[in-house]
Formats: sequence, structure tokens, C-alpha cells
Amino acid sequence: MSSTATTSNIPRITILGSLNTDLVAYVPHHPLPGETLTATSFMTSPGGKGANQAVACAKLSRPRSLSSPSAHVSMVGAVGSDSNGDMLLHNLQTHGVDSSLVTKLPNQKTGIAMIVVEAETGQNRIIISGEANHSVGEEYVTAGGWLEKTDLLIMQLEVPMGTVVRAVGEAKARGVDVLLNPAPARVLPEGVYRGLKHLVVNETEAAILGGVEERELDTMEGLERVGRMFLEKGVENFIATLGGRGVFYLTREGGEEKRGLVEAERGVRVVDTTGAGDTFVGRYALDAVRARKEGEGGEGGRFDIEGAVRRANKAAAVTVQREGAAASIPWRDEVE
Ligand code: ADP
Repeated sequence: MSSTATTSNIPRITILGSLNTDLVAYVPHHPLPGETLTATSFMTSPGGKGANQAVACAKLSRPRSLSSPSAHVSMVGAVGSDSNGDMLLHNLQTHGVDSSLVTKLPNQKTGIAMIVVEAETGQNRIIISGEANHSVGEEYVTAGGWLEKTDLLIMQLEVPMGTVVRAVGEAKARGVDVLLNPAPARVLPEGVYRGLKHLVVNETEAAILGGVEERELDTMEGLERVGRMFLEKGVENFIATLGGRGVFYLTREGGEEKRGLVEAERGVRVVDTTGAGDTFVGRYALDAVRARKEGEGGEGGRFDIEGAVRRANKAAAVTVQREGAAASIPWRDEVE
């Protein structure tokens, strides 16, 4: 879909992040040092946290027919000049993501994720070679003036940290909301938190960024303690996805603190959790950006964080019951 298909009233979400080709091998067990294994099956699929979250936003913003999206979704990033890059661009376009800000870099390779999945346990081991994603420098933040047209900026940590930090600063200066999903987990410069409207983490990310043991997140008190720490650093809405345990949220939007634990959907048969966190982010982001847009229009627009978490939790539960990443993310009409 091209940007010409949008109107100025529809909220605009931009994802600044990675695009990778996932090379996925299913194996009977993880290979030991020096061991050569035969995979039971293999597939190549579009991936990268950035691209997956862009696809999640786009798929959840509209029915499969691609008609009447509730948001315009655009991706900023880089691929190499190879067939993998073409495949990733095509994947964005077929799901309704505006890919006009994804640069195809000459003489570079597209990012790769080598994923080995143990059939019995579903446990995966992943090696990422960032390639073109490493070239997404700070100039990507200001080039083309896209930030001025963005209502909500979504980022992860698969592009250089300097770019993410710069983008948070530039977004704050322009009053653009930022959602950060800090994956893969790394400690963030302290100043970043002040620019975050939404911080969405899983348990590992919460522990690493918060500098605590993961088991501290086993209790509601522990979750509150860690969440409050992020709020004190400047985050407005803290969300921790806890896999089969559900989702914890803590907010101080509107000046008053509100917290809750939304249980995971019941009766879910987990097939493959790849893309579940990305689906969560996509669905949550659509509610967040709508509230922001309504607020601008003077229609109240108070963000119903609990409703947003519930809807995102429901969408992610669909994803875990299907194989694959982008392919397993539901369209809007498959959830509602
Ligand atoms: P990540 O994959 O990023 O580590 P989680 O494991 O927390 O993230 O999963 C993201 C979301 O997917 C959860 O918050 C929940 O909504 C959904 N989900 C994950 N596992 C289950 C499960 N066993 N049952 C129901 N929903 C699940």
C-alpha cells in the first residue's frame, strides 16, 4: 500500500527497526559441539523484530481484504541489494505496510537470523547477523521528515543503540509518542526513559533493564516494584508480558497510578510462540495511537490501558496457536 491511500485523519504509526530473513531449521535435538545434524525440516521466512511489529500493526489494523485500515503503518530501516531484501520488501507490501522508507543498500547483505528449533520442546537458539540493519544510523531519524508525520513511533533494539537514543530525543522534541520494546535486552542509557510513553517488555527484558533477578517478577509485589522503578525514570506506561501467566501493567497516565494483571487467555494450545510478543505490541499500539489521536481532536481520548492490554493479549493468544512469525499474526477480522 502506498502513502497516497491514507488520509490525514487516520493515525500514523512508524516502526524504526530491523528486517531479517529467518532461516529456520527444525531439529530432533540441539547439536553438541562438533556434531553435524540433519534437520527434519527447514524454512525461510520474513522476520526481524521491526518488520514483524510493522506487519502486526498492519494486519491488526484491517481485515484481510486490506480495506479501511484504522492506522497508516510505515517502516523505516534497511535491507541489502539481494533477493532476501526483495522478499522482505514484498512481505511488508502484501501486508499493507508502507515500505517507501526502507532503504536498499548497495553492496550490502540483508540481515539474517539463523534459528534452530528443537522439535520436542519448541525451544529455539538464534544467531543474528545484522548486516544492513547495522547501517541504520542516526541520519535515518531525520531524513525525509517522516517523524513530523508520525503519531506513534515504535522501536526495538535490533538497530544501533545510538539511532534509538537519537530517535527518542527527536520524537520527544516533536511531541511524538514512543513505544519501546527493548529486544534483544540491553541496558539503556538512563535519559532514554524520559522519552518513553510506553515500555513493553517480557520477563527477561524487565530483569535485564531493571537490574533484578527474573524470579523477582514472580510476584505481584515484585512486578510493581520493578514497574515503579521504570515509572520513576520517566516511563508513562509500563507493560510486562509474562507468557502463559498473563500481562502486568502499571501506568501513571493522567497523574494517577493504576496497575493490574490480565490473565493469559485460557484453553490455548501453544504451537509456536514466535511473533507473540510482536502481535501484542502491534495490537496494543493501535489502541495507544487511537487514544492519542482522539485526544488531539478534543474527544477525550483517555487511554484505556486495561482494554488495550486485554485486546493485545487476545490477539497474541491467536499467534501462539499457529506456526511461523509474520504468517501467524492474525488479521483484525480473525480476532474481533
Ligand atoms: P515473548 O515471546 O516476547 O517472550 P511472551 O512469552 O510474554 O513474549 O508472550 C507474549 C504474549 O503472548 C503474552 O503476553 C500472551 O498475551 C501471549 N501468550 C504467550 N504464551 C501464552 C500462553 N501459553 N497462553 C496464552 N497466551 C500466551
